[in-house]
Amino acid sequence: MTHAILTLNAGSSSLKVSLFPADGDQPMASGVVDRIGAAAEIRLKDRDGQPIATEGSLASHAEAISTVIAGFRGHWPDLALLAIGHRVVHGGPSRTAPVGVDEGLLVELERLSSFAPLHQPHNLAGIRAAMEAFPGVQQVACFDTAFHRSQPWVNDAFALPRQLFDEGVRRYGFHGLSYEYITGELARIAPQLAEGRVVVAHLGNGASMCAIQNGRSVASTMGFSALDGLPMGTRCGQLDPGVLLYLMDQKGMNAAEISDLLYTKSGLLGLSGLSNDMRTLEAAGTPEAGQAIDYFVFRCQRELGAMAAALGGIDALIFCGGIGENSRLVRARICERLAWMGIEIDHGRNAANERVVSSELARTTVMVIPTNEELVIAGGARAIAGRLGQEAA
Ligand code: AMP
Repeated sequence: MTHAILTLNAGSSSLKVSLFPADGDQPMASGVVDRIGAAAEIRLKDRDGQPIATEGSLASHAEAISTVIAGFRGHWPDLALLAIGHRVVHGGPSRTAPVGVDEGLLVELERLSSFAPLHQPHNLAGIRAAMEAFPGVQQVACFDTAFHRSQPWVNDAFALPRQLFDEGVRRYGFHGLSYEYITGELARIAPQLAEGRVVVAHLGNGASMCAIQNGRSVASTMGFSALDGLPMGTRCGQLDPGVLLYLMDQKGMNAAEISDLLYTKSGLLGLSGLSNDMRTLEAAGTPEAGQAIDYFVFRCQRELGAMAAALGGIDALIFCGGIGENSRLVRARICERLAWMGIEIDHGRNAANERVVSSELARTTVMVIPTNEELVIAGGARAIAGRLGQEAA
């Protein structure tokens, strides 16, 4: 039998999948289904880069999951799934670790959909679809918020009437699976740094920073929603709430219109009027594209100062995410004016995309560590399935 763990990351119209061996870190296969529901497209490859043939409907998440599994079964006829791990954006105030899925948990997570209406329903649809397709397989939920639940109250709360805090209007922070991976990697490759004051900059289409002390999240730039903090591909980042009042009062915009503006038309796309994609902006050379990059860099520097203040200093800065891992320009520009916090980039190392990109004598180590959220989900699923299996035995 080929025992394996499947990880699923269900977005609004996409599904990212990886298949891990029962006890290995290198995926046997991975891929993505895009545009589920309309002109869907599937790309699956095994670890050698060979395409995995699939046949079947991609009209819904449920059908896409079944089609993906059928493709894997065609490739590995004796495939046996030990567990399916799901990325779930919101675990609410109480979930601090992955957990096995049952009906009670789904009801709890559905209640949290009002906190993350654009993400949570899709994650839950993915879980339901997987439960339907594979009723006997252990499903495990891994939360993007869990890593941040260690944050102190001052960073958890907004200065709003207490009742709102009690009903869950708090700063949750997201990208937790990525931060967990980076924290684990840092502990492996630079254990001394991992015990210190670390800021991780997850800069991708979604972007945030996290202040981590001795492996625990102390503060993060994303708050109640995935809109706060840094500007992103299409999301606004930190915004004066007075702007929302203006949009409602003076422009008569309703919640759906404002949500669409803030989530899908703002950020790099809104500022550049061109693209949400950093590569496109770097190549464009228009004044607006330049200003969008300037704004992104400036807000990263500002938030980095805030994260370092929350930690009482900084020992290491780690870049990850599509921009953090690949854009030499953005990394160099962010580090440009940060000598006061001991940050000094080595341009040769940075241009070569080396793991350590700070100069030899710099007080603060700057590193690039490619993130791997899928591996964290697989680890969570493996641990829960192993524990529940032992309890049942
Ligand atoms: P992610 O959401 O983590 O996949 O990151 C996507 C972002 O990374 C997009 O803005 C891409 O343009 C950006 N990105 C990927 N590769 C590069 C690169 N070589 N140079 C600059 N930006 C990049």
